[in-house]
Amino acid sequence: MQGLMMDYQLTLTPFLERAMRMFPKKEIVTKSGPSLERSTYGEVTERIGRLANALARMGIRSGDRVATFSFNNTRHFELYFAAPCMGAVLHPLNLRLPPDQLVYIVNHAEDKVLFFEPQFAPAIEKLSAHFKTVKQYVVMGPTVPETTLSPVVSYEELLRNEIPDYPWPRLQENDAAAMCYTSGTTGNPKGVMYSHRSLYLHSMGLSMADSVGLVERDIYMPVVPMFHVLAWGTPFAAMMLGTSIVFPGPHLTPRDLAELLSAEKVTLTAGVPTLWMGLLNLLDNERYDLSNLRGMVVGGAAAPQSMIEAYEKRHGLKIIHAWGMTEMTPLGTVSNLLRSQEGLPDAERFAIRARQGPPVPGVETRAIDENGKEVPWDNKTFGELEVRGPWIIKSYYNDERTPQSFHDGWFKTGDVVVIDENGSIQIVDRSKDVIKSGGEWISSQDMENVIMSHPKVAEAAVIAVPHPKWQERPLACVVPKPDFKDSLTKEEIYEHLKTKFTKMYLPDDIVFIDAVPKTSVGKFDKKVLRVQYKDYVLPDR
Ligand code: ADP
Repeated sequence: MQGLMMDYQLTLTPFLERAMRMFPKKEIVTKSGPSLERSTYGEVTERIGRLANALARMGIRSGDRVATFSFNNTRHFELYFAAPCMGAVLHPLNLRLPPDQLVYIVNHAEDKVLFFEPQFAPAIEKLSAHFKTVKQYVVMGPTVPETTLSPVVSYEELLRNEIPDYPWPRLQENDAAAMCYTSGTTGNPKGVMYSHRSLYLHSMGLSMADSVGLVERDIYMPVVPMFHVLAWGTPFAAMMLGTSIVFPGPHLTPRDLAELLSAEKVTLTAGVPTLWMGLLNLLDNERYDLSNLRGMVVGGAAAPQSMIEAYEKRHGLKIIHAWGMTEMTPLGTVSNLLRSQEGLPDAERFAIRARQGPPVPGVETRAIDENGKEVPWDNKTFGELEVRGPWIIKSYYNDERTPQSFHDGWFKTGDVVVIDENGSIQIVDRSKDVIKSGGEWISSQDMENVIMSHPKVAEAAVIAVPHPKWQERPLACVVPKPDFKDSLTKEEIYEHLKTKFTKMYLPDDIVFIDAVPKTSVGKFDKKVLRVQYKDYVLPDR
């Protein structure tokens, strides 16, 4: 017996059409230099039609990849819809990748056209000889600067010559819509190809109240870059709902962000923890009116409990802690409190919120031990997290490494976790970061969180250092807050750690460093530290 409901294709085009008809006056703002460029969904959706016509005129056909090299701004948002809805594939490039990786990615994706910010012209000129498939360059501005790139045209000139009506094709829901590459900790980056269906369902997933809960009334500011898992998929959900958007542009210092959050009365924002750590320091010292801000989505790396507490207790601001991956569009879990947990004492509630949390409806999770068996939900047994669901990849794009990442139809995340009786996940480590000491596994993340809760510490990264007897032992690399640069001692940190860990878990040594190296998306880059300290001789303890 078949159900008798419409075989309705889940594509992004109805999001666009809905916003066009229902929310033409809602605002979309971009910070551009010192000024703000204000437009509306009405204007933007009209420009998306012009842009689609321009793409078709330059020869972009169904399935062709349209690359971008850009910040969080309105033009980039226009590309987010023009390319997929005309049948092409949006491909945002990570601005912070080294040149060899960028060249690899552009050639592997076979990008046909490259849209870029004017200021990147010199950088792209240097790489263009290596691009094998790019046939057209577009400068994302009103004019074309002096450049050797060819053929090249300006974005605004393209749009000026087109009409806003575009005969949007009837797409199939499994058609490709967009792609991103993971930053690739070893070897070349891997491509993830999102479908219309996955982006549609992921947008629904983001807007569930038990998830991030984006709504029409929000004024949403994505600080997470639009090249990092498509700004976590949020621009698609914003269009779907008609949510007002504030794009922060290129300048993301804590002061820039605080001013913009305040001036535009932002209600919801999103970014990686390092960013919010910086903002917290600023808010501790200067006053900004952030009374409209109802939530700050934090993901991409663990939100330290101390940070969640500091925001809430000192500034009345709520962190919404989420976990995900490029391969998952990225939404996996959101750490909201259950009804039964609301009355718990402060310390317990904050500890729950610092976990990665239960999977959002739509994502299935399980953890598997070294023998391939599912681990119990006892909050103790470590296992590798595996996931499946409608917005999770089934294969990397043209990549022979695919089979290694799958197990019985589940995607292997590479995260080591424990799961509690409620199904709430706590990441203890990435599998390559966990410290294997004797037969025990030590979580580097746990220890980092405790060290970072020390009032004199700004950042901490704990890495494994080879050890003759124990195989590996932990070394803590600690960045003191500026005021305590010369006064913070190892003993103070050991004293603090002893309140939480027994002797066998304590790091064998502590070194003070100026900053923890960061990856291209602003996460701690521990492989740099691992290389730096690979021959470090640990003292006897
Ligand atoms: P990359 O870090 O390689 O650029 P992703 O952005 O896809 O790629 O990173 C996904 C990984 O980031 C996850 O597998 C997990 O290890 C880590 N991560 C993401 N969110 C969180 C979180 N809230 N807490 C801890 N780790 C997280």
